This record gives sequence, structure tokens and C-alpha cells, in this order.
Amino acid sequence: MTSGTIGIVGAGLSGAVIGRTLAEAGHRVEVFDARNHVGGNCHTERDPETGIMVHVYGPHIFHTDDAEVWDYVNRFQTFLPYKNRVKTTSNGQVYSLPVNLHTINQFFGTALRPDEARAFIEARTDQAITNPQTFEEQALRFVGQDLYRAFFEGYTQKQWGCSPTELPASILKRLPLRFNYDDNYFFHKHQGMPENGYTDMVERILDHANIVVRLETHFHRAESAGFAHIFYSGPLDGYFDHEFGRLGYRTLDFERFTYSGDYQGCAVMNYGDFAVPYTRITEHKHFSPWEEHAESVCYREFSRECGPGDTPYYPIRLVKEKEQLERYVVRARQESAVTFVGRLGTYRYLDMDLTIREALDTARLYLACRSQGSAMPAFAQPPV
Ligand code: UDP
Repeated sequence: MTSGTIGIVGAGLSGAVIGRTLAEAGHRVEVFDARNHVGGNCHTERDPETGIMVHVYGPHIFHTDDAEVWDYVNRFQTFLPYKNRVKTTSNGQVYSLPVNLHTINQFFGTALRPDEARAFIEARTDQAITNPQTFEEQALRFVGQDLYRAFFEGYTQKQWGCSPTELPASILKRLPLRFNYDDNYFFHKHQGMPENGYTDMVERILDHANIVVRLETHFHRAESAGFAHIFYSGPLDGYFDHEFGRLGYRTLDFERFTYSGDYQGCAVMNYGDFAVPYTRITEHKHFSPWEEHAESVCYREFSRECGPGDTPYYPIRLVKEKEQLERYVVRARQESAVTFVGRLGTYRYLDMDLTIREALDTARLYLACRSQGSAMPAFAQPPV
């Protein structure tokens, strides 16, 4: 390491894309990650027993409308066609998600056409809610009581550990409601799965003569002084040794099991009932439909509050956490030569494509700041 070197903490998508962009612009880059692999939470590896590509930290499906981001990932990996078609089990029946015409007709025992279904659902929604603030209000306003109870209430309670009345409407806004038979979970123009997994893709992004990667290496902010700049994609509160308390996250536990044959016939089966303790089961071989495997590896996914030694997954961002976050943001802005990036660094629920978009923009902003002699901000994207 020399004083001109740029330090990057975290070898996930943010760190890798920033590192690559700066390396290609001629900078020397040193990347640190506490784990023994790159890729962050989109890490994939072949299961030693079955050879199946496993999404070790839960399902990751790449989807985007951003042409530059799509071209970017395709530079480092062949993306094979993959459509996310999620099913959900509720009260002993299997339905199609996101809620679409098939779900509606099956659930209500009807044979409605699109316009009829729209009117039918609208009659079941609460039109008095004009400006939905909470998850529950959003659900009651747009999908109505019955579908909400069957598919969202129990799942959300399990996933977030609190009532949907306490959660923001934005969480439900991630999911479409369709009055046709399109069962693609995502709207985006591009969707696919990396042929050799996300970790292989991230390894290739980091494979550059100007980049050194140090795995199983913890980074403490005391070391920042030795670098020209630090891009920090670890947890924001962790950087400051949790000075204002721990920002709340949900963590996940995965219960692995194997099966001879096809366990559930799809990659992701959600469980809407609160009485079923897990949120979903992932059958990994279905993420690589171009491969053939007689055996199967599945993960039952359980969500719980993230403790000090656990892996943080989903930032909670309720009122209490937002107040705490504001204090960390003020604190972060007092630091010089550190920029906080990504899901953990900015404490936001970020999809992979947005993470890459922001990483590209952040690295370019840094290059522009350097050439203009101006200071690089602590956040390229304000987290609050
Ligand atoms: N959700 C739900 N039921 C489902 C799927 C999702 O209630 O069957 C809610 C849940 O609160 C979840 C949110 O919608 O956190 C967003 O779902 P998404 O599938 O985007 O979650 P992710 O795959 O990112 O965990």
C-alpha cells in the first residue's frame, strides 16, 4: 500500500465496480473483505455434494432497465435467460405471484377477464385511503383485505418481525399487481442469471493489474489515513464502532436440506401463512435451468432480528432507525476522504442493478472531483 492507493472496504458489487472503474482510470486500488470470498451477499458457490450452484446468502436474480448496467455485467459474465416466476403457498393452496389474473381467479374461484378483475378488486379495496403511508394501508388500498391477509400480512410479519402497520408503503410498492396472466416477478427489460455465478462475475470485475484483493482481512477506520481515499461498503454504524447504537437489520438463517429429484418444481416458493415459521424455500438448481442435476439442494429461509455477530441483510429503516441514521450521516460528513456506498454503507434496501449504477456514478464522481480539485462527499447518494 502506498499513500496514492485507494482503499475499498468490501468486495461486493459496490466495492468491485468502484475498484474496477478507478483501476481502469489508472489508480491503484486495494480491496479488503472480512470474508473468505468476494461477491458480498450475492455470493454463489457450487455445493460440494451435488455440484449445484447455490445462492449462499439467499436468492439473487439480476433484472434491470438500465442499459449501461446490463452491458456492464455482460462484459464480465454470460447472462443466460432466466425469468423469476415465484409461487406462494397459502392456506393449503399454491398460487402464482406477483398477484396476477391467475392468482385472482384461482383465489376467488372466478373466470374474470382483465377489465372485470380490475373492477372486482377495486370494489374490494379501501378507496378511503387516499395517501397510503404504511404497508398495510398500501395493501388495503390496492389489493384489498382478502389477498392482503392471504399473501402479504403473514409473510411480512415473519420477514420484518413487526406488524405491516408499522412498515412503510415503499416495501409493498416493490411488488406489481397485474390484471393479466404475466407471472414474471419483475417488470424490467433485462433479466438473467450469470452462467458461472455471481462470485465468478465479481472475481472477473476485480481481475485487473491495478487491483489487489485482501480476503479475510478486517479493516478498521484507524487504517484510513494511509489511503488517498476510502470507499466503505461495510455497515455505516460499524465504521464508527456503533457510537450511536446499532442500526437495526433483519438477518436470515438458512436450513439446508437435500432431496433426490425435484423438491418443489420451482426456484422460490413463498409461504404466506404466519403459522409456517419460514418465509420461503429456495430450490437452487432451478436458478440454473440450463444445467441438469438429479439431486437437489434447498434452503428453508427464516428471518430474525440481526444480533451483533450475525450477517446484516435487510435494513429496517423505521422511525427509530432513521433518527439514528441521521446521527451517523452527520458523523460521516465530518470525516474526510471516506465515502460510504452500497446497501450497508448507506443503509438502504438496494437491488443489484441499482447498486452497480450507484457504484459507477460514485467512482465517476470521484474522478471528476479529483480532476477539479474538489472534495469527494461522504455520500454520493444521500441515505436520508
Ligand atoms: N412480500 C409478501 N409476500 C410475499 C412476497 C413479498 O408479503 O409472498 C412482501 C414482504 O414484506 C417483502 C416485500 O413484499 O419484504 C418485498 O418482496 P420482495 O420479493 O421484493 O423481497 P426480497 O426478495 O427482496 O426479500
